[in-house]
Amino acid sequence: TAAAELKELDKKHFFHPTSSIKQQQQSGPAFIFTEGKGIYLYDESGTKVIDGMSSLWNVNVGHGREELGEVAKEQMAKLAFSSSFASFSNEPAIRLAAKIAEIAPGDLNAVFFTSGGSESNDTAYKLARHYWVVKGQPQRQKIISRSKSYHGVNVGATSATGLKPFRDFTNSLAPDFCYVDHMSPDALRARIEQEGPETIAAFIAEPVQGAGGVHVAPENYFKEIRSICDEYGILFITDEVITGFGRTGKLFGIEHYGVVPDMMCFAKGVSSGYAPLGGVVFSQALYEELGELSTGTLLHGYTYSGHPMACAVALKNIDIIEREKLADNAEKRGVDMLNGFEEIKAANPIIRAVRGLGLMGAIEFHSQESADGPLAPRVLAEAAKRGLICRAVVLEGQDILVFSPPLVITNNEMQEMLHILQASVYAVEQSLQK
Ligand code: PLP
Repeated sequence: TAAAELKELDKKHFFHPTSSIKQQQQSGPAFIFTEGKGIYLYDESGTKVIDGMSSLWNVNVGHGREELGEVAKEQMAKLAFSSSFASFSNEPAIRLAAKIAEIAPGDLNAVFFTSGGSESNDTAYKLARHYWVVKGQPQRQKIISRSKSYHGVNVGATSATGLKPFRDFTNSLAPDFCYVDHMSPDALRARIEQEGPETIAAFIAEPVQGAGGVHVAPENYFKEIRSICDEYGILFITDEVITGFGRTGKLFGIEHYGVVPDMMCFAKGVSSGYAPLGGVVFSQALYEELGELSTGTLLHGYTYSGHPMACAVALKNIDIIEREKLADNAEKRGVDMLNGFEEIKAANPIIRAVRGLGLMGAIEFHSQESADGPLAPRVLAEAAKRGLICRAVVLEGQDILVFSPPLVITNNEMQEMLHILQASVYAVEQSLQK
C-alpha cells in the first residue's frame, strides 16, 4: 500500500528532528499526517486525532485555514521573494513590522525578521553584544539565562538553553553564557554580582517556560527582574516564541507581568506555522541608540529575513487572531483546561501537580512511585491510542505531560480532550496497581 511504502521511505531517507534516531530507523513514523481541520489532524489511514500541542506550540489559529493558503498563493504569484538587505524592501514585510509594532507592548517598535525561533534568539544575543561593542563597553558579552529554559538549537540558542541535556548533546558551546535559577530574582542579582555587572550584556527569559515543562513565574518575578536589569544597566530580552500571539490569554506573555523588555523574540504563532517566520522586536530607544552608535554595516541578516510570502501569511494570521478574539478564547478555555486537570488530579493519585496559563498546561506525575520508569510517556501512548497527541517532558528529573491546543478550541472540544486524558491517566494507573 501507499502507506507502507511511505513508511519504508521515511525509515530510510527522512532524518527526523528531535527523535530517537535508532527507533526512527527501525520503526518509522507513528503517524503520517495528510490533513488538518481546526484542532484535528488526520493521517493517511483516516485516523483522527486531537492536536493537543498545536503541533509544536505553534498552530494557534488551528489547521486548514484556506484564507492563509489564498494569501500565500496571491503573494507567491505576485512576488515570491526579493531581498530586504540594505535598502531593498517589500510591502508585506513593511506592513507586518508596523502591525507587530502596534500590538507589541510598550515602545517595542522595530522588527528584525528571521525564519524561526532559534534564529531570533541568536539575533538577540548578537545584537545585544553588538550594542555594547559600539557603546564602547565591549567586555559586556555574557548572556544570562534561566534553568529549565529552552531557546532553540542553533549554537547560540543551545548555549543559552538552561535544560542541560540540550547543552550536553555536543561537547562544546559558544562562550559567555551562564545560568540562574528560573524562579528567583535574587539568583539573578547574585549571579550578576559574581560575574561582575560590567561583563554582562543581557538577561533572557521565556514569560512562561514551555519545553522545560510549563513553568509559570511567580507574580512579581518579572517586575523584580526588570528593575534588577535596570539597576545594573543590563538588557532584558523576553523569548515569546511560544507565549506570543495569544497563547497565554494575552497577545504576549509578558503582558501578564506589566513590564516591557528591551527586545522580544518571536516565531511560531506569528504565522501559526503556515509559513516559517520569526523575528526580534526592539524598543524604540534601543533601535534609535543603535542608529546613532553603529556607523558601519550591520553584519547580520538571513536570506529569508522579511520574506514577502511568509510576511503576507503572518499579517493575515494576526488578522484572524484579532478578528476571532483568540487570545480571549485562550484565556477562557485555559481556565476550563486547568479545572479539568484539577479534577483528573483529584481522581488519580499518580498526579503530583497541575499548572498552566492560558492554553499552556502541564500535569506532573509522581514518577518515583513507578518501578517502570516515567509515567508521562505511558500516558502519552494511551492518549495517542484514544485520539489525542500531546508531549511528554522527561528531563532533569521531571515527569510531565504538556498541552497547548490550538487557540480555536471550543468548550466541547476541550471536554473531549480532557475526557481522553482522564481515560488515559486511569488506564496507566490501573496498570500500575496490577
Ligand atoms: N524559543 C522557545 C521558547 C521555543 O519554545 C522554541 C521552540 O520550541 C525556540 C525558541 C526555537 O524555535 P525554532 O524551533 O523555531 O527555531
